[in-house]
Amino acid sequence: MKVYAGTDLEGVAGVVSFESQTYPTGKYYEAARRLQTAEINAAVEGMVEMGADDVLVCDGHGPGAVLFEELHPAAKLMHGRPLAPQAIRDEVVRNYDVCMMLGQHAMAGAARGNLNHTQSSKSVDCYKLNGRPIGEIAQFALYHGALGLPLIFLSGDQAACEEAAELIPGIVTVSVKQGLGRNSAISLSAEQARRRIRQGVIQAIRNHQKNPIAPLEWPGPYVLEKRFFHTDVADAAAAAPDAERVDAQTVRLRSDDIREIIYR
Ligand SMILES: [Zn+2]
Repeated sequence: MKVYAGTDLEGVAGVVSFESQTYPTGKYYEAARRLQTAEINAAVEGMVEMGADDVLVCDGHGPGAVLFEELHPAAKLMHGRPLAPQAIRDEVVRNYDVCMMLGQHAMAGAARGNLNHTQSSKSVDCYKLNGRPIGEIAQFALYHGALGLPLIFLSGDQAACEEAAELIPGIVTVSVKQGLGRNSAISLSAEQARRRIRQGVIQAIRNHQKNPIAPLEWPGPYVLEKRFFHTDVADAAAAAPDAERVDAQTVRLRSDDIREIIYR
């Protein structure tokens, strides 16, 4: 089995602050990277235990966060900023059998979502696809679903797990912290979080082998509505030739191709 794992930093146990932990200027950024990489390694252990013979980890957090030197020996790392264009990455990623999300947070506006945001924590109010609110989990699952990869496992905070379960029946999720709000949570210990992630990945692969999860697909055509906090960001988004301005803060895009629209 070939496993592709998207990673983020905001859904890792012990990481609760944008300011001090998820921005490279943060006082505890390096410590947060270590926590993240150890959770990824726990997931890779579970994959290897279940016979995965090819593991590709994508360094997904904005500026990049995975500590290369500490990464599990069985994993390869897709990294660098900016990441290569999607068309180039797709040629690699489409060869994988399943995908997972590690260290994931809930969509912007999720009431108890710790560090909740969608793409930019500073500019995006909410995204809606065909009228349904979406965050990074739906973006990832739909994009990779179109490449033929089902999303079979997610680790992150409780709100991210609930968001994933609602999108993908049968997905195995592991909650490593319970958000009390956007900037506060109750985290499991680092060791407990890693243990549960390893076990969750084993369970996810086992379940998928018995009852395969289908790649996520929503019927098109697609209408993506992007609402921003500030009008200047909406001005810039509205400059795209095919964009429609809905109101001062909102822009609408249309496409028949989910992969073309979902990360715009
Ligand atoms: Zn992130």
